[in-house]
Amino acid sequence: MKRILITGGAGFIGSHLSERLLNEGNDIICLDNFYTGSKENIRHLLSNDRFELVRHDVINEYTAEVDEIYNLACPASPVHYQLNPIKTIKTCVIGTANMLELAKKCNAVILQASTSEVYGNPYIHPQNEEYWGNVNPIGIRSCYDEGKRCSETLMSDYHRQYNLNIRIARIFNTYGPKMALNDGRVVSNFIVQALKNEPLAVYGDGTQTRAFCFVDDMVDALIKLMNNKDNYSKPVNIGNPVEFKIIDFAKLIIKLLNSNSEIKFMPLPADDPLRREPDISLARELLDWEPSTSLIDGLTKTINYFSEILTNQ
Ligand code: NAD
Ligand code: UDP
Repeated sequence: MKRILITGGAGFIGSHLSERLLNEGNDIICLDNFYTGSKENIRHLLSNDRFELVRHDVINEYTAEVDEIYNLACPASPVHYQLNPIKTIKTCVIGTANMLELAKKCNAVILQASTSEVYGNPYIHPQNEEYWGNVNPIGIRSCYDEGKRCSETLMSDYHRQYNLNIRIARIFNTYGPKMALNDGRVVSNFIVQALKNEPLAVYGDGTQTRAFCFVDDMVDALIKLMNNKDNYSKPVNIGNPVEFKIIDFAKLIIKLLNSNSEIKFMPLPADDPLRREPDISLARELLDWEPSTSLIDGLTKTINYFSEILTNQ
């Protein structure tokens, strides 16, 4: 049994991770400021003695005795991270620095939830961990992209300077139940629009690509990365290497739901990456991991979740 701190633990990925690690017998401190997370996501865990919920903002210092830290606190959807960009970059940089100080005090292992956004609008495809990326430092996505890049720098410097035991997960687009209804990311938007028979809003001409990983697979990989015996401290891509054009993804959702929705086109937001697909060779080798949930199975579970939420509204 370990004492594990999960920041952003009431969010989409964090709540799944909290549940899994709690069920494995660990003591969990779930820390969140509820900016995009929700108590509903973890309500079923609150009655467990080994689960503790703390309302706290990671840009302020926090102290506890823990063995491991999963630092997930940060809004992940462009809509939400662009709403208060200064707060977003502070969360990425100051929040990560605070968690690194805590890890140093406790001699804890710390895993940082980084992102495929560190590759920006990539010239290398699919993206592997050796690629340094193509990121606009002054655009509307920079608060997140550069914030996460800086968090990787901080992690690496704490490792070099203090020999801290670190893990860096470069997370690619992840989806599943417990995404917020108003999350604003493509999977939840399309499913909710299709369930309501409203037009699916495709940004740009829809030829930009993404690759989608189901949340259970993501949680498996994060835990495997945390526990890897090599203490691997460099970034590791985690995602599902099946690339989709956004327009084809919209058509798939309409077909799966047998929906009457049409497709409408909206302007492509600035700096929206044109292609994205993870090269997961390293994760396969290091973690003996690859996604095992098919897109259809994952989408069906996600559709059922949103369908229930909309019915109960
Ligand atoms: P999410 O928005 O659902 O969860 C983030 C959680 O962090 C929320 O509960 C939010 O309230 C909390 N939070 C935000 N700012 C905070 C702060 N200053 N202090 C304390 N808590 C704070 O997003 P998610 O999809 O679950 O993403 C989790 C992590 O994974 C994020 O760090 C994100 O950058 C990273 N990530 C996610 C994806 C993805 O596709 N889901 C892709 C790449 C990276
Ligand atoms: N997108 C879209 N319609 C939406 C939401 C997103 O066409 O309602 C597009 C967006 O422009 C991007 C892709 O889908 O090209 C993925 O967007 P998302 O916000 O989910 O994540 P990102 O990978 O851009 O952070």
